[in-house]
Order: sequence, then structure tokens, then C-alpha cells
Amino acid sequence: MSDFRPCDGRLPEKVLEGIAAFNAGDYFEAHELLEAAWVAETGEIRDLYRGILQIAVCYFHLSNQNYDGAQKMYARSLKWLVKWQPSCRGVRVTKLLRDAENVIQALTDLGPERISEFNPVLFKPVQLEQHYWCDRCGAEMFEHNCKITCPNCGSRFDCSDLNIHFD
Ligand SMILES: [Zn+2]
Repeated sequence: MSDFRPCDGRLPEKVLEGIAAFNAGDYFEAHELLEAAWVAETGEIRDLYRGILQIAVCYFHLSNQNYDGAQKMYARSLKWLVKWQPSCRGVRVTKLLRDAENVIQALTDLGPERISEFNPVLFKPVQLEQHYWCDRCGAEMFEHNCKITCPNCGSRFDCSDLNIHFD
């Protein structure tokens, strides 16, 4: 095992821009930006960028009522994303996978004939880990692998307790 942990560290600017476009619902632009980041990266972490890119393309196809394209792109994205769970470089990967799975489940239930009835409220943003302030002692808290821990008093909670703030 190498000591190098690809999930440590920050996302490059292009990826952050791509995620911002994704979260604004501009899936085509998200695809362009994430593709540029994917091409520029030579390390294994490029697979994370490609996975998010393919979710963006999946949502783009779905928005254009391309049933087969959306299904195919979702299936491809899993390979690149599952290994980075639960979170990587601040991206909440498990949450992204769960959201995409809900989208595909709804799409599959509708089938190709009723794709126009898909409810876009199911398109959720890519969530990034955040910093918090401890409500017990006021220290800054850091999120890692979906656990938010206070380095001062040890108080902790789980990011899934917070979903109401993001959805
Ligand atoms: Zn504390």
C-alpha cells in the first residue's frame, strides 16, 4: 500500500467550477469543465472527476428525454465513483450515488414512454464537506468521511443528520 491517499487535499479549480455548474443545473457546462479537469489529471483521482462528469451527462440526457443515454451513462459512472466512498477531496460521494440512484429508479419506473413526466426536483446538487462551529465549545469542527468532530471537546455528529440543510 502506498502512503499516498488520493482523497486527501483539495479539488482543482476546474472541478469546483464544474460542480458549481452541475449544482446550477447546467449539466452541459459541468460536462465541459469536468472533462477539462479529467484530461489535465494523470493520477487515479481523475476517475472521481470522470464519475461526476458522467452523472452530469446522465442528467443532461434525461433532461433531453434521452432514456437510453441516461441509463447507459449512469451505469458507466458507478465504476468510477463507488471506490471513493464515502467522501473524497471533500465531495460527498455516497450522497451523490444515492441521489443518482433515486433519479434512475424514478426514470426506470416511468419507462421511455413517460420520460417527459420525470420530476426534475430529483436532481440534487453535488454536496461538498464543510466546516462547522461546535455548539458546545465554539471550536471549529472538521468533516471527514461524513463524520464531523470537534477537535477541542470531542463532540461529533454525522453528515446525514444535516441533509435537511442541503436538500
Ligand atoms: Zn467542541
